Amino acid sequence: METHLANLIKGTRAGQEAEAILRSCVHCGFCNATCPTYQLLGDELDGPRGRIYLIKQVLEGEAPTAKTRLHLDRCLNCRSCETTCPSGVQYSRLLDIGREVVEAKVPRHGRDRLLRNMLKAALPRAAFFGAAMALGRLVRPMLPRVLRAKVPPRTAAGRRPTTVHGRTMIELAGCVQPSMYPNINAAAARVLDRLGITLLDAPSTGCCGALRFHLNDVEAAKQDARRVIDAWWPLLEGGAEAIVMTASGCGVHVRDYAHLLQEDPLYAPKALRVCAAVLDLSEIIAREQGPLTTLLEGGRRNRARIATVFHSPCTLQHGQQLRGVVEGLLQAAGFTAKPATSGHLCCGAAGTYSILEPELSVQLRDLKVQALTGGAPSVIVSANAGCIAHLQAGTPVPVQHWIELIDGVLSA
Ligand code: SF4
Ligand code: SF4
Repeated sequence: METHLANLIKGTRAGQEAEAILRSCVHCGFCNATCPTYQLLGDELDGPRGRIYLIKQVLEGEAPTAKTRLHLDRCLNCRSCETTCPSGVQYSRLLDIGREVVEAKVPRHGRDRLLRNMLKAALPRAAFFGAAMALGRLVRPMLPRVLRAKVPPRTAAGRRPTTVHGRTMIELAGCVQPSMYPNINAAAARVLDRLGITLLDAPSTGCCGALRFHLNDVEAAKQDARRVIDAWWPLLEGGAEAIVMTASGCGVHVRDYAHLLQEDPLYAPKALRVCAAVLDLSEIIAREQGPLTTLLEGGRRNRARIATVFHSPCTLQHGQQLRGVVEGLLQAAGFTAKPATSGHLCCGAAGTYSILEPELSVQLRDLKVQALTGGAPSVIVSANAGCIAHLQAGTPVPVQHWIELIDGVLSA
């Protein structure tokens, strides 16, 4: 698409990037076919091609309006369109650039502004979020249905291994996951322990910054990234072989640190090293497939084959382009993995989307639950705490992280 950028962005790094992306789009519209919001709303401006066009107009100098912002707000940033696009258009990068410009030109007011500020302040603070979650659980039966759905019942984390192995890796504990689903990181530590790897928790890591980044507070997200890098650095220097992501939503964001901090002379080289060390938990376990298979033999024997269906988070299948890895691990552990229809579509969780766009989010969730439960699975499995909580609010079928199932087999 031919593009003539306005002075507001021309000549900047973001402008050059946006121009290259816009030029790569041939306007074919194939991406609309796999866009969840286009499928729901049927409006060209609620699909990727229309949003690309809106961003192009803004970057060429046209004044954005509240309507422009609404169409961009409705985007889940699921990146299904990137997987579909035959021209390799980096839609998500363009969306980030477009949203930042529109946010500055069309300020938010009232409830919308207040809600976003509260989310930016509260969610990334693990201690605060933990206290709020504990309080929420106390009064859970009295909460309105919509809030109750965001407060999963308390679960135990179980034993955390104490053996220190020669091989070490670093975990990102996360900001909301430890209080919502404490067993996920503990299960990851137990499985890695059986494979001879110690999972190290770096103190003061906190939130990776994804939440603030997707709420358009880029400077705060950069600060989060610097703090996380500082927390991991001594462990990396001390010989940790990888940084393990147990939540694909965090993984896709941390893999982008090098891009986020590219203009920071102090942190850019460190961010590059961090990105090179980041792996999704499924990639690590798959690399240890040999010893894992031996371990699994014992647990798998005499075990009834449990029917699972895997909901692959968008941040795993589209954002990180990791497909089939978790499914393979579940099958190796003796689970039956039923295929999910429309598996490419987002469940509607999408970070804070379920709070900011609740109606669309619930519609997407209900469609997803219908697709996942069609084959009557015993368990729905996923790889991201946000998707797990969101899906669980829409179905009585248990929803778990896949590592909890592998841990269960090994501990049987
Ligand atoms: S983003 Fe890709 S699929 Fe969508 S209109 Fe542009 S070139 Fe076509
Ligand atoms: S990121 Fe997802 S919701 Fe946004 S335009 Fe692409 S496919 Fe549609």
